[in-house]
Amino acid sequence: MIDAISFDLDDTLWDNRPVIRAAEAALADWVQRRAPDLVPHYQLETLLEFRREIIEEQPRLRHRISELREQILFRALRYSGYSEAEGRQLAAEGFTLFLDERHRVSPFPETEPLLELLARDYQLIALTNGNLDIARLPLGRFFDHSVRAEEIGLAKPNPEFYRTALERIGTNPARTLHIGDDLENDVIGARNAGLHALWFNPGKAPNPPADLPLELQVETLRQIPDAIGQWRQRMRDTVNR
Ligand SMILES: [Mg+2]
Repeated sequence: MIDAISFDLDDTLWDNRPVIRAAEAALADWVQRRAPDLVPHYQLETLLEFRREIIEEQPRLRHRISELREQILFRALRYSGYSEAEGRQLAAEGFTLFLDERHRVSPFPETEPLLELLARDYQLIALTNGNLDIARLPLGRFFDHSVRAEEIGLAKPNPEFYRTALERIGTNPARTLHIGDDLENDVIGARNAGLHALWFNPGKAPNPPADLPLELQVETLRQIPDAIGQWRQRMRDTVNR
Protein backbone atom coordinates (compact mmCIF):
# COMPACT_ATOMS: atom_id res chain seq x y z
CA MET A 1 0.00 0.00 0.00
CA ILE A 2 1.34 3.42 0.77
CA ASP A 3 3.59 4.48 3.62
CA ALA A 4 4.50 7.99 2.50
CA ILE A 5 2.56 11.05 1.42
CA SER A 6 4.24 13.82 -0.51
CA PHE A 7 2.75 17.30 -0.60
CA ASP A 8 2.96 20.14 -3.01
CA LEU A 9 3.25 23.37 -0.99
CA ASP A 10 2.21 26.55 -2.85
CA ASP A 11 -1.55 26.77 -3.44
CA THR A 12 -2.03 23.41 -1.75
CA LEU A 13 -1.21 24.28 1.87
CA TRP A 14 -1.75 28.04 1.50
CA ASP A 15 -2.79 30.61 -1.09
CA ASN A 16 0.48 31.65 -2.66
CA ARG A 17 -0.46 34.62 -4.86
CA PRO A 18 -0.74 37.17 -2.04
CA VAL A 19 2.56 35.89 -0.63
CA ILE A 20 4.50 36.54 -3.82
CA ARG A 21 2.73 39.85 -4.37
CA ALA A 22 3.73 41.02 -0.88
CA ALA A 23 7.31 39.80 -1.33
CA GLU A 24 7.58 41.64 -4.66
CA ALA A 25 6.22 44.80 -3.03
CA ALA A 26 8.72 44.52 -0.17
CA LEU A 27 11.57 44.14 -2.65
CA ALA A 28 10.39 47.15 -4.70
CA ASP A 29 10.30 49.15 -1.48
CA TRP A 30 13.82 47.94 -0.63
CA VAL A 31 15.02 49.09 -4.08
CA GLN A 32 13.72 52.60 -3.33
CA ARG A 33 15.60 52.72 -0.04
CA ARG A 34 18.81 50.83 -0.79
CA ALA A 35 19.39 51.08 -4.53
CA PRO A 36 17.94 54.40 -5.76
CA ASP A 37 19.90 54.27 -9.04
CA LEU A 38 18.09 51.05 -9.89
CA VAL A 39 14.63 52.63 -9.53
CA PRO A 40 14.28 53.86 -13.15
CA HIS A 41 15.23 50.40 -14.49
CA TYR A 42 13.26 48.36 -11.97
CA GLN A 43 10.50 47.53 -14.43
CA LEU A 44 8.91 44.25 -15.30
CA GLU A 45 9.87 44.38 -18.96
CA THR A 46 13.54 45.09 -18.23
CA LEU A 47 13.71 42.40 -15.57
CA LEU A 48 12.08 39.85 -17.87
CA GLU A 49 14.62 40.70 -20.55
CA PHE A 50 17.47 40.06 -18.08
CA ARG A 51 15.76 36.84 -17.09
CA ARG A 52 15.65 35.68 -20.72
CA GLU A 53 19.32 36.56 -21.24
CA ILE A 54 20.47 34.78 -18.10
CA ILE A 55 18.53 31.59 -18.85
CA GLU A 56 19.92 31.59 -22.37
CA GLU A 57 23.45 31.90 -21.02
CA GLN A 58 22.94 29.46 -18.15
CA PRO A 59 20.07 27.05 -18.93
CA ARG A 60 20.74 25.18 -15.66
CA LEU A 61 19.22 28.16 -13.83
CA ARG A 62 15.76 27.56 -15.26
CA HIS A 63 14.72 25.48 -12.26
CA ARG A 64 17.04 27.16 -9.76
CA ILE A 65 14.75 30.07 -9.13
CA SER A 66 16.54 31.52 -6.11
CA GLU A 67 19.89 31.79 -7.85
CA LEU A 68 18.14 33.06 -10.98
CA ARG A 69 16.32 35.78 -9.08
CA GLU A 70 19.50 36.97 -7.38
CA GLN A 71 21.34 37.05 -10.71
CA ILE A 72 18.56 39.09 -12.32
CA LEU A 73 18.82 41.58 -9.48
CA PHE A 74 22.61 41.66 -9.83
CA ARG A 75 22.41 42.29 -13.57
CA ALA A 76 19.86 45.06 -13.06
CA LEU A 77 22.10 46.68 -10.45
CA ARG A 78 25.14 46.54 -12.76
CA TYR A 79 23.00 47.96 -15.59
CA SER A 80 22.06 50.83 -13.27
CA GLY A 81 25.72 51.71 -12.68
CA TYR A 82 26.55 49.90 -9.47
CA SER A 83 30.03 48.39 -9.28
CA GLU A 84 30.59 44.65 -9.35
CA ALA A 85 31.18 44.58 -5.58
CA GLU A 86 28.21 46.84 -4.77
CA GLY A 87 26.04 44.83 -7.12
CA ARG A 88 26.92 41.52 -5.48
CA GLN A 89 26.39 42.84 -2.00
CA LEU A 90 23.10 44.56 -2.81
CA ALA A 91 21.75 41.62 -4.81
CA ALA A 92 22.44 39.29 -1.88
CA GLU A 93 20.79 41.71 0.53
CA GLY A 94 17.72 42.27 -1.65
CA PHE A 95 17.25 38.60 -2.38
CA THR A 96 17.54 37.68 1.31
CA LEU A 97 14.80 40.18 2.07
CA PHE A 98 12.61 38.77 -0.71
CA LEU A 99 13.13 35.21 0.50
CA ASP A 100 12.30 36.14 4.09
CA GLU A 101 9.06 37.79 2.94
CA ARG A 102 8.31 34.83 0.70
CA HIS A 103 8.20 32.63 3.82
CA ARG A 104 5.41 34.70 5.41
CA VAL A 105 2.66 32.36 4.35
CA SER A 106 -0.76 31.93 5.98
CA PRO A 107 -1.64 28.25 5.81
CA PHE A 108 -5.31 27.41 5.20
CA PRO A 109 -7.18 26.72 8.48
CA GLU A 110 -7.44 23.02 7.51
CA THR A 111 -3.73 22.64 6.77
CA GLU A 112 -2.29 22.06 10.21
CA PRO A 113 -4.96 19.61 11.46
CA LEU A 114 -4.60 17.65 8.22
CA LEU A 115 -0.82 17.37 8.47
CA GLU A 116 -1.01 16.52 12.15
CA LEU A 117 -3.43 13.69 11.43
CA LEU A 118 -1.56 12.25 8.43
CA ALA A 119 1.83 12.49 10.16
CA ARG A 120 0.63 9.87 12.67
CA ASP A 121 0.38 7.20 9.98
CA TYR A 122 2.59 8.31 7.14
CA GLN A 123 5.99 9.68 6.41
CA LEU A 124 5.36 13.19 5.05
CA ILE A 125 7.50 14.76 2.34
CA ALA A 126 7.32 18.25 0.82
CA LEU A 127 7.98 18.43 -2.94
CA THR A 128 7.98 21.94 -4.42
CA ASN A 129 8.99 23.78 -7.56
CA GLY A 130 9.08 26.95 -5.46
CA ASN A 131 11.80 28.23 -3.16
CA LEU A 132 10.02 27.96 0.14
CA ASP A 133 11.89 25.87 2.67
CA ILE A 134 9.25 24.14 4.78
CA ALA A 135 11.77 23.68 7.60
CA ARG A 136 11.59 27.45 8.16
CA LEU A 137 7.88 27.26 9.02
CA PRO A 138 6.21 25.86 12.14
CA LEU A 139 4.49 23.38 9.77
CA GLY A 140 7.93 21.94 9.06
CA ARG A 141 7.66 19.81 12.20
CA PHE A 142 5.21 17.51 10.42
CA PHE A 143 7.54 16.75 7.52
CA ASP A 144 10.21 14.10 7.52
CA HIS A 145 11.83 15.40 4.33
CA SER A 146 11.58 18.06 1.68
CA VAL A 147 12.97 18.61 -1.80
CA ARG A 148 12.87 21.86 -3.75
CA ALA A 149 13.30 21.80 -7.52
CA GLU A 150 16.23 24.17 -7.22
CA GLU A 151 18.14 21.68 -5.06
CA ILE A 152 18.21 19.03 -7.78
CA GLY A 153 17.87 21.18 -10.90
CA LEU A 154 14.71 19.36 -11.97
CA ALA A 155 11.09 20.43 -11.59
CA LYS A 156 7.63 18.90 -11.61
CA PRO A 157 6.08 17.54 -13.82
CA ASN A 158 9.32 15.89 -14.95
CA PRO A 159 9.05 12.29 -13.66
CA GLU A 160 12.80 12.49 -12.99
CA PHE A 161 12.05 15.13 -10.35
CA TYR A 162 9.82 12.72 -8.48
CA ARG A 163 12.10 9.72 -8.89
CA THR A 164 15.24 11.62 -7.93
CA ALA A 165 13.61 13.32 -4.97
CA LEU A 166 12.07 10.13 -3.58
CA GLU A 167 15.22 8.09 -4.18
CA ARG A 168 17.19 10.69 -2.34
CA ILE A 169 14.96 10.38 0.68
CA GLY A 170 14.71 6.61 0.47
CA THR A 171 11.05 6.26 -0.46
CA ASN A 172 9.53 4.07 -3.13
CA PRO A 173 7.29 5.95 -5.64
CA ALA A 174 4.78 3.09 -5.75
CA ARG A 175 4.33 3.39 -1.98
CA THR A 176 3.84 7.15 -2.10
CA LEU A 177 0.71 9.23 -2.61
CA HIS A 178 1.35 12.74 -3.92
CA ILE A 179 -1.14 15.52 -3.12
CA GLY A 180 -1.20 18.78 -5.05
CA ASP A 181 -3.32 21.38 -6.80
CA ASP A 182 -1.74 21.44 -10.25
CA LEU A 183 -3.15 18.88 -12.68
CA GLU A 184 -0.10 18.81 -14.91
CA ASN A 185 2.67 19.20 -12.32
CA ASP A 186 1.21 17.28 -9.42
CA VAL A 187 -1.21 14.73 -10.82
CA ILE A 188 0.04 13.79 -14.27
CA GLY A 189 3.71 14.27 -13.36
CA ALA A 190 3.48 12.17 -10.20
CA ARG A 191 1.57 9.38 -11.94
CA ASN A 192 4.09 9.31 -14.77
CA ALA A 193 6.79 8.69 -12.17
CA GLY A 194 4.85 5.78 -10.68
CA LEU A 195 3.36 7.53 -7.64
CA HIS A 196 -0.30 7.61 -6.78
CA ALA A 197 -1.80 11.08 -6.93
CA LEU A 198 -4.60 12.90 -5.16
CA TRP A 199 -5.81 16.06 -6.87
CA PHE A 200 -6.68 18.96 -4.59
CA ASN A 201 -8.95 20.88 -6.95
CA PRO A 202 -10.66 23.70 -5.03
CA GLY A 203 -11.49 25.64 -8.21
CA LYS A 204 -13.32 22.63 -9.71
CA ALA A 205 -11.15 22.69 -12.80
CA PRO A 206 -12.30 20.09 -15.34
CA ASN A 207 -10.61 17.23 -17.20
CA PRO A 208 -8.67 15.02 -14.83
CA PRO A 209 -7.14 11.88 -16.37
CA ALA A 210 -9.98 9.46 -17.12
CA ASP A 211 -8.48 6.79 -14.87
CA LEU A 212 -7.89 9.03 -11.84
CA PRO A 213 -10.03 7.42 -9.10
CA LEU A 214 -12.96 9.65 -8.15
CA GLU A 215 -12.14 9.41 -4.46
CA LEU A 216 -8.70 10.87 -5.22
CA GLN A 217 -10.22 14.18 -6.35
CA VAL A 218 -11.18 16.59 -3.58
CA GLU A 219 -12.30 20.20 -3.37
CA THR A 220 -11.28 20.85 0.24
CA LEU A 221 -8.35 19.71 2.35
CA ARG A 222 -10.82 18.52 4.95
CA GLN A 223 -11.97 15.72 2.61
CA ILE A 224 -8.50 14.22 2.30
CA PRO A 225 -8.38 11.76 5.24
CA ASP A 226 -11.69 10.16 4.22
CA ALA A 227 -10.67 10.19 0.58
CA ILE A 228 -7.49 8.26 1.39
CA GLY A 229 -9.43 5.87 3.61
CA GLN A 230 -11.99 5.12 0.89
CA TRP A 231 -9.33 4.68 -1.75
CA ARG A 232 -7.32 2.28 0.41
CA GLN A 233 -10.45 0.31 1.21
CA ARG A 234 -11.33 -0.01 -2.46
CA MET A 235 -7.77 -1.11 -3.28
CA ARG A 236 -7.96 -3.77 -0.56
CA ASP A 237 -11.34 -4.97 -1.86
CA THR A 238 -9.96 -5.18 -5.40
CA VAL A 239 -6.97 -7.23 -4.23
CA ASN A 240 -9.18 -9.61 -2.21
CA ARG A 241 -11.74 -10.14 -4.92
MG1 LIG B 1 0.91 24.16 -6.17
